[in-house]
Amino acid sequence: MGEPVAFRCLTCGRQHAPWSVDDVCPRCGPVAGALEVEYDYPYLSRRLSRGTFAESRRLSLWRYEPLLPVSEKHAVPLRAGWTPLYACPTLAAELGLGALWVKDDTVNPTASCKDRGTAVTVAAARKLGRAALVCASTGNAATSTAGFCAAGGIPCYIFVPRSAPRAKLAQLVAFGATVFPVDGVYGDAFQVAVQAGRRFGWYNRSDGMNPMVVEGNKTGAFEVGEELRCDLPEFALVSVGDGAVVAGLAKGFLELVRVGLAERVPRVYGVQAAGAAAVAHAFARHQEGKPILPAREEAETVADSIRVDRPQDALRAVKAVAKTEGGFVTVTDEEIVAATQELARRTGVFAEPSGAAPYAGLLRLVVEGRIPSGSRVVLFVTGSGLKDPEGALRGVEMPEVIPPTLDAVAEAVEG
Ligand SMILES: [Zn+2]
Repeated sequence: MGEPVAFRCLTCGRQHAPWSVDDVCPRCGPVAGALEVEYDYPYLSRRLSRGTFAESRRLSLWRYEPLLPVSEKHAVPLRAGWTPLYACPTLAAELGLGALWVKDDTVNPTASCKDRGTAVTVAAARKLGRAALVCASTGNAATSTAGFCAAGGIPCYIFVPRSAPRAKLAQLVAFGATVFPVDGVYGDAFQVAVQAGRRFGWYNRSDGMNPMVVEGNKTGAFEVGEELRCDLPEFALVSVGDGAVVAGLAKGFLELVRVGLAERVPRVYGVQAAGAAAVAHAFARHQEGKPILPAREEAETVADSIRVDRPQDALRAVKAVAKTEGGFVTVTDEEIVAATQELARRTGVFAEPSGAAPYAGLLRLVVEGRIPSGSRVVLFVTGSGLKDPEGALRGVEMPEVIPPTLDAVAEAVEG
């Protein structure tokens, strides 16, 4: 049902025949030439109803196959998507919100939301008969690619900045990927991955280089829509590094409206670290009528997953967020560290710093009045705290060791 009708360039508007191009518009090049997968929305709106997805009984993102570019028959066994949506009524009341939900994408197979984009991209590689994949990433997309390629018995080549956390490197090595820690920042790893992919014919899963990634990422929005019976919240917040995740969520919400399943989209807000805010700055330029690109800046933050100096999906992210009438917010590292603790303590969801950043963004938007009281809000938590234990331990006082006696426990408990 969901055969794409075109891969459309976001800059020149040229409609490429589906599958005629792997990554970006050849005329416009990387970032500017990001391609958007388009479907026959009028046809789909006649065919889809709110019950269509549940009828498939699939407990993964493949329940949305009618709105995906590839069929599940090409997928590898790992199960991405259909993650929990937790209601947080007490926290919502304390913040003056009408409702608050946490979408817990830490429970995906490799413990981050990146498994959504990877599941669809690896299925596309198999549909196209590609022998190997390449991915450059700050860490999570890389480990995701390595895991899904392991499940499919497909070789993969991974490029990460040398600063990637050890837990992520451990995952990569465990999955048997060929790993290249690059002596440079994320943008350097990305460049060499693109060059190597072209040279050796590897299918590129990197954010911004493959329209399939966003097609997977959009399923998080579909799941929220389905769980809330398409009565979508007023606001959706997610952290932003390259921009592929926020762009995917916005596209997902917009597609629910285009196929007639929802009436309006949430305002999607991207949350960035103040020290790594190239997409937020690009959005501000767009609002002033200035060019979105280039968007390259120095990047420094404790949240390694969003420590992105040259965001590869900046154009797509800015345009998608603007379509939802949302925006961007930046938060300090102190706010991110505090949010990591508070999110875990208040919801039981242990996120890595970038995964908790939307909670910090929420607090700021509420204080600034940009999210009015009574609003219904969903936070997308993108990666597990176990991905970056050192990051999670920042600002934490470690407990003291006690003798193995009841007296010692009693003294600690009773004071
Ligand atoms: Zn183009």
